[in-house]
Amino acid sequence: MPSDDDLRRLIRFSTDDGLIWLAGQRMLLLHSASLSALRREMLNTVGAGHARRMLMRGGYASGERDALLARQIRPDASLFDMFAVGPQLHGLEGAVRAMPEVFEVDEQAGRLRCVVRWDHSWEAEAHMREWGPQKDPACWMLLGYASGYASAFFRRRAIFKELQCAASGHAYCRIEGRFVHEWPDGEMLARDYAPESMLVRLDELQSQVEALRTRLQPIDRQGPLLGQSRAFEKAVGLLQKAAPTQVTVLLTGETGVGKERFASALHAMSPRADKPFVAVNCAALPSELIESELFGAEKGAFTGATATRIGRFERANGGTLMLDELGELPLAAQAKLLRVLQTGELERLGGARPIKVDVRVIAATNVDLEKAVEAGGFRRDLLYRLNVYPIHIPALRERVVDIELLAMHMLQKFSALHGRSIAGFTDRALAALRGHRWPGNVRELENLVERGLILTPAGELIDVDALFPQWSEGSQSGVDEQGFLTRQQAALPARQTAGIFDAMQSQGLSLEALEDSLLQEAVRRASGNLAAAARALGMTRPQLSYRLSRIRERDQDLRRDPENHE
Ligand SMILES: [Zn+2]
Repeated sequence: MPSDDDLRRLIRFSTDDGLIWLAGQRMLLLHSASLSALRREMLNTVGAGHARRMLMRGGYASGERDALLARQIRPDASLFDMFAVGPQLHGLEGAVRAMPEVFEVDEQAGRLRCVVRWDHSWEAEAHMREWGPQKDPACWMLLGYASGYASAFFRRRAIFKELQCAASGHAYCRIEGRFVHEWPDGEMLARDYAPESMLVRLDELQSQVEALRTRLQPIDRQGPLLGQSRAFEKAVGLLQKAAPTQVTVLLTGETGVGKERFASALHAMSPRADKPFVAVNCAALPSELIESELFGAEKGAFTGATATRIGRFERANGGTLMLDELGELPLAAQAKLLRVLQTGELERLGGARPIKVDVRVIAATNVDLEKAVEAGGFRRDLLYRLNVYPIHIPALRERVVDIELLAMHMLQKFSALHGRSIAGFTDRALAALRGHRWPGNVRELENLVERGLILTPAGELIDVDALFPQWSEGSQSGVDEQGFLTRQQAALPARQTAGIFDAMQSQGLSLEALEDSLLQEAVRRASGNLAAAARALGMTRPQLSYRLSRIRERDQDLRRDPENHE
């Protein structure tokens, strides 16, 4: 078997947030007694047949995940060494010591024969303790792992059988795996891994409900309004109530929360759905053009008006006009807007006759218009006219529970757009998405997901460094060969390392002297508080005081005997 050092290095204990990682997968260090208790309860409540299949499927999922790592971690190794990642991880995870005895594979011909000896199976142990010796093998979860691992590894359905088991009186367990078509009873064996029929039915009903819900939800060109958080559902509820009426809606919320999506959804749900929806971003138009853009201009109305121009209000006639970033609208244009809202009539620039328009206005802003009124930048009467039905769209950080749902939806959208198939996100990436501050809200999430999709090889999971380029593992730790916790130092970027190295060279500093100055600098910055300085350096207080005392001793030696010191 190859060395498993490469696998040990993938285990990270993230002490700051209490997470354990195996590469990108979140892991649990749990007592085998707790899993045994769960196993016992399953057997008692649903019976051995169902419990066996449930445990097999649980193990299968875990084997599949470990297989994603295998080809990634040992890309240049022999097929056997690559495959050995599974048995080795199974051992590191504490499930069983797995020693492959036979490994014959011909992927092209679709032939596999893999015999593995299992010692110290936790499951056989647990089963024996609870139920005594059995006639049939009992390492169900482990067997599921082996099948899931081999199936994902070879990307072809493989099934393991347990030939002998420590739970039925043998000294150790032994399993044999083949591709499903190689077993005479392969199809039957594979059924163990298919979801239970009742669950299938539930799944079907679930997807029917989803389909109906999607059909009821407004779908615009940018996608549906997705979210289950209370804050978001409240906003959508208000929107749905406003839709069938003519009320002027004011959408508020930070940049990037999806105000245009809300506006076009409102339009799509309204009786005006088959009429135009026109959106204007007031901040994007130069102030000298904004009036002609909104209200139109007759030929010759101003320099450059070489032809009659139809404004956005007229374009939206019969439909809906969204005025985004309304706070940016100049005061003169505000006066004209107010008149249109009050009379339903507008005049083109340089035009002599009023034109009747029937337009529903949706205003949107990311600034506090009340404050803008106080500062003299916005008309109070216009604010009153617009603020009849305000809807606040929550920021993304206020709806953390929606992040995974949104990210998966965006992933599907971008997968189709870029023609790439990505399996999803690692648990670590999802945790990082949930923990992010999201100053740019949904739009920022969309950008990160698209970036992650592009940086991730097809068929793999998007990990955190593909989403956040500045991601650092500085606060994480690992486990050494003896299984002890070690702190891992995050490497400095090469550019900074080069700068420090140059400084050392030019000043003739030794590594030791550099270390001394760093220690002293930390103490100075912590105003002499050793505990704080130690924390900043990632060491304990006793470690720091020991090193400081070593510096003092060296200084004294130097003073006493300057000739002898190098
Ligand atoms: Zn067994």
